[in-house]
Amino acid sequence: MNNKSVLYQKYRPRNFTELIGQEHIIKTLKSEIINGEVSNAYIFSGTRGTGKTSLARIFAKALNCESLSRDVDPCGVCSVCADIDKGHFIDLIEIDAASNRGIDDIREIRNKVQFSPSVGHYKVYIIDEAHMLTTDAFNALLKTLEEPPESVIFILATTEINKLPKTIISRCQRFDFYSASDLDLKKYLDIIVLKEKYSISDDVKSLIIKNARGSFRDMLSNLQKISHFKNELNYDDVVKILGLPDDLRLQTIWVHTLQGNIAEAISDISGENLQSQFFINESLDLFRRLLIYKVAGIKDIYVQEFEKNVGIDISVQHIINILNILIKSIENLKLSSSSILTIQLALVEVYSSFAPKENSNINPIIKNNKNEDTSKVVNGLKGVDQNTNESKPYDIQEKWLSVIERSKPFNHHMSGFLQKSSFNIEGDTFVIIVPFKFYKDMLVEEKSKDFLRNLLKDIFMKDFKVDCIVDKSVKPIVVLKKDSKANEITSSISDVFDIEE
Ligand SMILES: [Zn+2]
Repeated sequence: MNNKSVLYQKYRPRNFTELIGQEHIIKTLKSEIINGEVSNAYIFSGTRGTGKTSLARIFAKALNCESLSRDVDPCGVCSVCADIDKGHFIDLIEIDAASNRGIDDIREIRNKVQFSPSVGHYKVYIIDEAHMLTTDAFNALLKTLEEPPESVIFILATTEINKLPKTIISRCQRFDFYSASDLDLKKYLDIIVLKEKYSISDDVKSLIIKNARGSFRDMLSNLQKISHFKNELNYDDVVKILGLPDDLRLQTIWVHTLQGNIAEAISDISGENLQSQFFINESLDLFRRLLIYKVAGIKDIYVQEFEKNVGIDISVQHIINILNILIKSIENLKLSSSSILTIQLALVEVYSSFAPKENSNINPIIKNNKNEDTSKVVNGLKGVDQNTNESKPYDIQEKWLSVIERSKPFNHHMSGFLQKSSFNIEGDTFVIIVPFKFYKDMLVEEKSKDFLRNLLKDIFMKDFKVDCIVDKSVKPIVVLKKDSKANEITSSISDVFDIEE
């Protein structure tokens, strides 16, 4: 037996009562047994480790048990139950479609199926990973299902129901297995920890549950791996031993991104070795859970804690945007030669779509010009007669906005750069203050300077000399709501990659 699966085998539920979750299916199966309305074919569909094969075996047991309990649970002690537990029962045939794709088995079924069960009431065929059957096998199976012999039951277990032919699906009674809830996983884990006398702290338990992603099998496989260590393991040990993602780091990156500290998020990413696929999957999981929490109100301590750390209300629409960006980046990962870059771009995209606070609360063009703070926003008016009346700063802003707008046809990048910049008027020199050297390099090109000189003359009615300085901490004078996204992305990227001197 595979060592990794020891616990899973040992604690495989052996009757309906022991099986945690899937109550809706158990209830239906039991009532079918009681009422004698058992179907000839079933589909058990669901992700891995949700109990499909276990339930199929329990069902087979219940159909054949010699002394079924009053609540329709197999007794566990009769020869049928014992044989099924040992895997010896002659009327229970399990076929693994993943390993042999089934054609020979299905042919054999067609030949043998006409014979009645040897010892039990029903002959049960469990076809695991049924979607892996070949077309020939499906056709053979279909013929059998078209004229199902009495007392023969097929149970097709699959993780990918979309790969089963419709003709097959339509002839089966279908059950969809839910992924195990964290609560169900915990119930199961607690039982095993108690029985095995493991000493495991609560935060390690939570870690194992979270990373099981609704699969009992995955949870036990991880428990198995840490059970070999004699001393009690702490959270960090378990993260390392199981090669789990460091949640703290993941959360920090997202907190930074959502709070608008994109540069920090990027440096978090590039700081250490980061497995990109892992990061994206974990992030998808985080936001998927956040979405469920927001939409369905299902309590989730993990994401509630995350939202508290972000400190900003993340709307459902935002979460959907983020999920879309992440899904897209899975595709991009396949095409990209730099996976870190792909993630960085995804973060920048999320950051841009999130309208960081820093920018969203200053919009002097839209703001009432009587607002006292307006003059603070305009931080580049030295030398300009700004005290003569209140509307002056607003007027300056409007002029600057014209510069930005009218430079667009000349050079779209220039317009974007100016939007992220500020200026001072020093005598007859118009000094543009830019956050990055590469902005300056472009603006001081002779062609650009000529264009700007003419434009400024036109708008400010004055013949300026044009100069440019770099100041990393410069704040833009105006923030455009309209069409701002493209510009924000451009400038965010330069923030991110720190393109400067
Ligand atoms: Zn029994």
